Amino acid sequence: RVDDNLLKAANAKYQWHPMVHPKRLEQDPPLIIARGRGAVVEDLDGKSYVDGVAGLWCVNVGHGRKEVIDAIQAQLAQIAYFSPFDGTTTPPSILLSQKLIEMTQPEDMARVLFSNGGSDAVETAMKLSRQYWRLKGQPQRVKFISLMNAYHGTHIGGVSMNGIPSFRANYEPLLPNCYQVECPWIYRNPWTNDPKELARICADALAREIEFQGPDTVAAFFAEPIQGAGGVIVPPETYWPLVREVCDRYGVLLVADEVVTGFGRSGAMFGSRGWGVKPDIMCLAKGLSSGYVPLGATLFNKRVVSAWDDDATFTGAIMHGYTYTGHAVACAAALACLEIVEREDLPGRAAAMGARLLDGLKPLEQSSAVVGNVRGKGLMIAIDLVADKETREPIDPGEGLAYRLADAARAHGAIVRPVGTKLILSPPLVISEEQVDVIANALKEAFRVAV
Ligand code: PLP
Repeated sequence: RVDDNLLKAANAKYQWHPMVHPKRLEQDPPLIIARGRGAVVEDLDGKSYVDGVAGLWCVNVGHGRKEVIDAIQAQLAQIAYFSPFDGTTTPPSILLSQKLIEMTQPEDMARVLFSNGGSDAVETAMKLSRQYWRLKGQPQRVKFISLMNAYHGTHIGGVSMNGIPSFRANYEPLLPNCYQVECPWIYRNPWTNDPKELARICADALAREIEFQGPDTVAAFFAEPIQGAGGVIVPPETYWPLVREVCDRYGVLLVADEVVTGFGRSGAMFGSRGWGVKPDIMCLAKGLSSGYVPLGATLFNKRVVSAWDDDATFTGAIMHGYTYTGHAVACAAALACLEIVEREDLPGRAAAMGARLLDGLKPLEQSSAVVGNVRGKGLMIAIDLVADKETREPIDPGEGLAYRLADAARAHGAIVRPVGTKLILSPPLVISEEQVDVIANALKEAFRVAV
């Protein structure tokens, strides 16, 4: 066993971590998580915490599930990996593609293309939606529209669609032909407090942007059914149906980035299903394999697939894919995870536990001077920190309040995620009532001691 102090020193010396300045880590080294069971994780020193973040929105079935470990080991004993190119494949990827298409029959999905994670799933959707329009004889349809506050991952395509400035700034210039329109954020918008009116205003903004760009130049509109990294922005119920109408009016493909919302987190099996909408393309990752092994998948509906079915000249080869597309161990892990998601009704559990957690945290809006808004759906919850409750002006992120609150919550037994001016909660969907209460109480204490 490696000595704990050597491990900490080696991390400081050799490893860069995402989304943070390397020098900040010297002052505040990362917590090293060494073990996990269910919704509880343990650090190197043996201190345990309720996992309020599911790793990073992903360990939906909980840590250390025997069924998943057994499936991974069984697959490793058969074959870990073989090429998905050049006329070969492996059994788990076939079985998982069938499972995913069966699960998404209500959405009319027809084919899957696997990848390694969410950013890949988005990149795949961008490239294949352009290829779709080429096959349909409209190669000028190359533009992408997405939302302010959106997060679509870290590849240059996804970053170009992201609507959060901090993810974009250091990597300019980004991909041309990507445009953002207003997202329907009920707590912070300049127009209205009425959800229906807001949905209409934002859907109209999308329609106007499509008109402005020229409908026959727009390939697809991308959106998260509930914006995650942007701060758990839950749209009004009528927004997605209106967006579907707008996309249909102009023939634009509707891509649901379900990387976070897929497989139950929002309280429905898929976020778009929760809004009663069928997208044309779905991007999946995270909960697909619950983080046991990295995996992404992009699903295409019958409309999209028909372009390839009708391609009599064979010009539409899919010149996109990864060495690890359909990785056998990842697919075996995902099959075991999805079995648990269905058997244990994890979407239903997310709805019930999410309601309990939201109830536990809502009183902070009254009791704390810096909590402007606590919101969420299922097990996606955000606490919005404000400098002024009246104006809803966010706190100055430079003062580090979100980090101090997260540290204090950790000291009281719960890991929560500080993101700029917000705290984000996204525990494993298997979390118990008692564990939900540990998170709520840890946060209450954190606001008492750290503000
Ligand atoms: N899309 C959404 C909605 C996400 O939340 C994320 C990651 O959080 C991604 C894409 C990127 O996924 P990954 O980090 O697995 O590449």
